[in-house]
Amino acid sequence: LVGRDFKQEDTIIDVGGVQIGGRQLTVMAGPCAVESREQLLESAHIVKAAGAQFLRGGAYKPRTSPYAFQGLEKQGLEFLAEAREKTGLKIVTEVVDVESVATVSAYADMLQIGARNMQNFQLLKAVGRTNKPVLLKRGLAATINEWLNAAEYIMSEGNYNVALCERGIRTFEDYTRNTLDLSAVAAVKSISHLPIIVDPSHGTGKWKLVRPMSRAAIAGGADGLMIEVHPDPSRALSDGKQSLTPENFSLVMQEVAQIGAVV
Ligand code: PEP
Ligand code: MN
Repeated sequence: LVGRDFKQEDTIIDVGGVQIGGRQLTVMAGPCAVESREQLLESAHIVKAAGAQFLRGGAYKPRTSPYAFQGLEKQGLEFLAEAREKTGLKIVTEVVDVESVATVSAYADMLQIGARNMQNFQLLKAVGRTNKPVLLKRGLAATINEWLNAAEYIMSEGNYNVALCERGIRTFEDYTRNTLDLSAVAAVKSISHLPIIVDPSHGTGKWKLVRPMSRAAIAGGADGLMIEVHPDPSRALSDGKQSLTPENFSLVMQEVAQIGAVV
């Protein structure tokens, strides 16, 4: 179902009037985690003003350490829904387990499957049985073929609204948090009709690299970006080092619009 042999033309996903695919440069931006009502509403206004279509923010956070901030859970979802009401932004947020699929679906416009869950086949099948579009992140050490098979799991349950998200993979390089595989964008485009979004925040782990990699992603054919933005990155509860200030995010938006217009 994921392949170009099944479907030749590019898939365009409609998320309540906002489209993903067909090179429309859809941007999903916001904090790594929903930290408080104030932090989220402020973030929403910032990303909306810069031109993003989606607000991102994790209410359930898959953290490396069990002692790190785990997210506000249901209250976080309520803040996301309030931000949508106030700004008109669409909401994309991560669902981490089968048990919370129904709850997250009640609030989100799009369900994010995180890198750590890319091969959680029960979770893939569960989101495949919902009517919510899915953003499927590439696993930390997943090949393109494994990633496309994960998308196949979702689609095989009847949900064809799947967008892929390249967020970097583990390599020997440790200067960057992950190695952002921009060649995967071109590869996926040739094999599959599904839209592909690039996340240069997790892909590099360094805010200074996010702007250039955003430009490269769009020049290379990505359908959009997922970018972490925080009102005050130095005070973020997670991923502050890779989060953009409002000013830098606004610059990214201006730059990618120019590139999108010529490629
Ligand atoms: C996130 O988007 O904040 C996240 C946890 O991403 P990933 O699953 O790509 O690590
Ligand atoms: Mn993050």
